Amino acid sequence: MSETISREYVGDHEERLTADYKKAEHEAKTLLEKYNITKAPIDPESLAEAEGLDVVYSKFKPEISKKISGYIDIKQKKIVINKDISPNRMGFTIAHELAHYLLHRTWALSNHYKVMPRSNTYGGRKPAQEQEADAFASHLLVPRDILKLYKNYASNQELARMFAVSEDVIMHASKWL
Ligand SMILES: [Zn+2]
Repeated sequence: MSETISREYVGDHEERLTADYKKAEHEAKTLLEKYNITKAPIDPESLAEAEGLDVVYSKFKPEISKKISGYIDIKQKKIVINKDISPNRMGFTIAHELAHYLLHRTWALSNHYKVMPRSNTYGGRKPAQEQEADAFASHLLVPRDILKLYKNYASNQELARMFAVSEDVIMHASKWL
């Protein structure tokens, strides 16, 4: 009996290998449309709160703070952010964790779920869910239709300031335009 029950949940518990970037992009766009957001910078904290999550900033123990940007506690509906990271990294982490809430709830409740490391490395291959959460964060914070309007007139540094993300995020987002 318990075999049958657990099997029903297997799908999203597993470490998938192929990320669905289209789905991640679509979910980010849908969320922006839902709240009529058409201008940068996008505030991921208000969006997370509008979706029913609390965002809290916490002082982590030094050995943990070095490694972790934040995590989501799905049961408590709470995103916990490391107080010691940069504001840009905070925004990206909130958007990334919000993706797990919207896209990967079952998975994030399972044992496979890991926190968001500061280095963004996962000791080998990055799980599909983590790649999707990064893609969602990228599309949420840097909507490509807004980026297109400014990309030829502003430097990456200026764009980074405008969208409140790191230059890395801008460079990555510009790649596929
Ligand atoms: Zn994650």
